[in-house]
Order: sequence, then structure tokens, then C-alpha cells
Amino acid sequence: MIRTNLRYHRPDSLAAASDLLWSHRQDIAVLGGGTHLLPRMTRDQESVSHIVDLKALGLDGVNISANGVSIGSRVTYDQVLRHDALTRILPLLARVSHGVTGGRQVRNIGTLGGSACFAMPGSDMPGALVGLRSRFRIHGPTGFREVDSTDFFTSAFVNALEPGEFLHSFDILDIPTATGYHKIKHSAGSWPIATATAALWEGQRLEITLGGVQETPVRIDVTKVADQPEEFAAAIDAAITEPWDDVLAPGSYRRRVAAAAAKRALSELRRRVA
Ligand SMILES: Cc1cc2nc3c(=O)[nH]c(=O)nc-3n(C[C@H](O)[C@H](O)[C@H](O)COP(=O)(O)OP(=O)(O)OC[C@H]3O[C@@H](n4cnc5c(N)ncnc54)[C@H](O)[C@@H]3O)c2cc1C
Repeated sequence: MIRTNLRYHRPDSLAAASDLLWSHRQDIAVLGGGTHLLPRMTRDQESVSHIVDLKALGLDGVNISANGVSIGSRVTYDQVLRHDALTRILPLLARVSHGVTGGRQVRNIGTLGGSACFAMPGSDMPGALVGLRSRFRIHGPTGFREVDSTDFFTSAFVNALEPGEFLHSFDILDIPTATGYHKIKHSAGSWPIATATAALWEGQRLEITLGGVQETPVRIDVTKVADQPEEFAAAIDAAITEPWDDVLAPGSYRRRVAAAAAKRALSELRRRVA
């Protein structure tokens, strides 16, 4: 049960949403699908008096143009899976969305923006969005600003949003030649312990982005070492400076499995290129 009296707001403009977030800045939360937020409020882990629902702001669309792909922050996993053009251009997003556990309910209402803003180290989407070199469009009291995905995730469960700001959309301006994804987890239904996104850019540069192994995703240029297994594993290991511990696994275990996850993501990418 949520124990506070809640005031629900559904602003009809971006400016009104930012005004609300600014006016109640210590005491307000944005509602995405609510799959993280509402259970946390029920368990008293989070307490606010105001909820702002961005439903009326048109943030649930996907726009594909010559300039790249723009994805509204309220787009759900299910919408990704049902969007043929998006899954053709960015199969990684469908691959990741498909693998999110929690069944249809979570896929139907969980949003990409909610996953990003919650900034949980073990979530799938943060690492994938960094792996796609996406840029995050943020709206605040003075209008729009953009941050690179690598700067959005500042530490575990903390993002770069300032008071009055909300996540508007993700822009993916360059489309990778090919991608691969792998995650390591205890069982089919459990959360990831380590995720690896492999991306090939302009047919040449190979990058691996690790998720879950540190507080924030870490992107590594592996172009020169991709064909040398020992150097590849060493490059992955060297990138992990402060491994992340939680109830699912200690940091030492995450460090140990990271190179294996990266290797499998790279193998998947290569199968797609072949
Ligand atoms: C049973 C279950 C299994 C799951 N399994 C996985 C899994 O395997 N892998 C995985 O990665 N995730 C998993 N998840 C997590 C799921 O991905 C997230 O719960 C979901 O993506 C969060 O989206 P939401 O829209 O529900 O966020 P919400 O709960 O609505 O919001 C989360 C946080 O982000 C903030 N927020 C939301 N949208 C915005 C915005 N536009 N601007 C600013 N702040 C915003 C909210 O205020 C809140 O603090 C699972 C969840 C459940 C319940």
C-alpha cells in the first residue's frame, strides 16, 4: 500500500511538465510504466506527494529519418518489439527488449526511459544505449539539452537529470554496421549479472560495452585486440576499475565473467556480419 496522499498530474505541454517538476522538486516523481516506481513506493523505499505522468506529451513514438533514429522515453519494450522498421535498423534493441524478464506485463508497460532513469547497474537497457552511442534529450525549465549516454549514467541509481528535468527521448544518430548482445544471469528469469553489447561501426571499429559489472556502463574499443583472445580478455579486464557488488553477485565474480560475456556478444555480431 502507498501510504502518502498522492497528487497525480498529467501536464499537456513540455514546459508545464518541467514547471511542475521544478515547483515540487524535492517531492515529485515522473511516472513511466511504474514497474520500478510503484513497488518502491509501496515498500516505502521512495516517498513523494506528487506524481507527474508524461502520457500526454507524445513521448511514445519512434521517428526514423536520414538523421538517424529518435525514440521517445515512454516507448515500451513491447513497442520496440512490434516496430518492424526499428527492429530492422537496430536489431539490438529488439534483442534486448525480448530478453527482459517479468513477462508480458513488464514488456507492455516498462519503458526504455524508466529503465534508463532508474540507472540500475544490472539493467539491460543502460549498457545497450551506451553501446549504441545514443544521446539523451532532456527537457528542463530552460528548454532542451542533450547529454551523451556515457554522461547520463553518473553512478548506481543516479542519473544526470537536474531538478525540473525529465528524459524526453533518445537519439541514435549513427547506425552500427552490426551488433551482438549477451548477458550472464543465474537463471532464465533472473536479472543480469553482466551484459555485453558488441557494436561494429563503419565496418571497422569494434566496441564492447559492459553493463552490470560497474556502477555505470563502460565502453571499450577492442578493434585492435578482437582477434587475439588473450589481449581481448585483458582489455576487458583492464576496463573494469571498480566492479559492482550486489546481492546477486560480488564484484569479483562480475569481473571474472565479463570477458566471457564480451566474447559471446562479439561472436553474435560476427555471425550477423557473415
Ligand atoms: C518482474 C520484473 C522483471 C524485470 N526484469 C528485468 C530484466 O530482466 N532486465 C532489465 O533490464 N529490467 C528488468 N526489469 C525492470 C524493468 O526493465 C523496469 O522496471 C522498467 O524498464 C522501468 O520502466 P518503467 O517505465 O516502469 O519505469 P518507472 O518505474 O515508471 O520509473 C523508474 C524511475 O525512472 C523515473 N522516470 C521514468 N520515466 C522518466 C522520464 N521520462 N524522465 C525522468 N524520469 C523518469 C521514475 O521517476 C522512476 O524513478 C524487471 C522488472 C520487473 C518488475
